Amino acid sequence: RAKMAGRNRYSFFSAEMNEQVRERAMLEMALREALDTREGLTVYFQPQMSQDGGTLTGLEALVRWKHPQHGMMSPGRFLPVAEECGLAVRLDEWVLDYTCSRMKDLPDVPVSVNLSPGQFCTDDLYERIMVIVQHYGVDPRRIELEITEKVLLEENVASHTALRRLREAGFRIALDDFGTGNSSLNYLRRFRVDKIKIDQSFVQHLGKSSESAPLLRAIINLGHAMGLDITAEGVETREQLDFLAQNGCNQMQGYLFAPPVPEERLADFRQTASGSAAAADGSAPT
Ligand code: C2E
Ligand code: MG
Ligand code: MG
Ligand code: MG
Repeated sequence: RAKMAGRNRYSFFSAEMNEQVRERAMLEMALREALDTREGLTVYFQPQMSQDGGTLTGLEALVRWKHPQHGMMSPGRFLPVAEECGLAVRLDEWVLDYTCSRMKDLPDVPVSVNLSPGQFCTDDLYERIMVIVQHYGVDPRRIELEITEKVLLEENVASHTALRRLREAGFRIALDDFGTGNSSLNYLRRFRVDKIKIDQSFVQHLGKSSESAPLLRAIINLGHAMGLDITAEGVETREQLDFLAQNGCNQMQGYLFAPPVPEERLADFRQTASGSAAAADGSAPT
């Protein structure tokens, strides 16, 4: 009996595992296909606003994928798969390529693109990025590269060199999801970056835990002391905006102003790029 129960259990788990493996394999196949055909992939742009929330100061490019069966899929679901099977490098390159190809028609502000940690396992990162921007004649100073703390924590000489060269070429480097990477802060001594992006979890705990306000102040002060720009992510309420502005945060990004939108929808923000109109009236984005 024990033997039979054991066998049943074994076959139960293996069936479930097979299902998971199959799902993952299907996702990988569909993603590969999307990258080959460019079908279903697109880029949304999320506005980044000035300290008072009134002027467009930047855009973040965020990948979107319309899966043939599952519909619009968030990067949270397919990026881990892309990273596991080595497709993230191609995906990021596609996003940069797409962004550069649209640059002339985008509002005249810097555009951020995200680089997955996997990018830094390749030894030709600098060359691959330069080929793309040069192909479209885009000035590297228009592009900000978002990396995570993880990248700087690794003792990888090649990736550190690539980052340094990219920065020398004019790209701005932003540290994304700052504060979540159980970091030692040591890397801030060794690497020049231009900006930190405070992770949205800190912003969204404002008013919910008494530690949030002092933590946010400390992060902002640290950044300023090091001469860095500071962007807050996930700003959803007027209260959060006011607190962050009063404490010297330079740039705001979040649903209070706009979610990531397709390029056509950016038209509403074009005016504000010249500072002639205010977009932030505190109402939810439509
Ligand atoms: P991220 O780079 O930190 O991007 C910000 C994420 O927060 C975006 O999610 C955005 O839609 C979301 N967000 C913005 N404002 C708010 C807000 O007010 N409230 C809340 N709750 N969320 C807000 P998204 O687009 O789903 O992307 C998730 C993550 O996937 C990104 O986080 C980034 O790490 C990654 N990602 C997205 N596109 C790319 C890409 O092209 N390449 C790479 N390597 N990673 C990407
Ligand atoms: Mg980002
Ligand atoms: Mg982030
Ligand atoms: Mg993130």
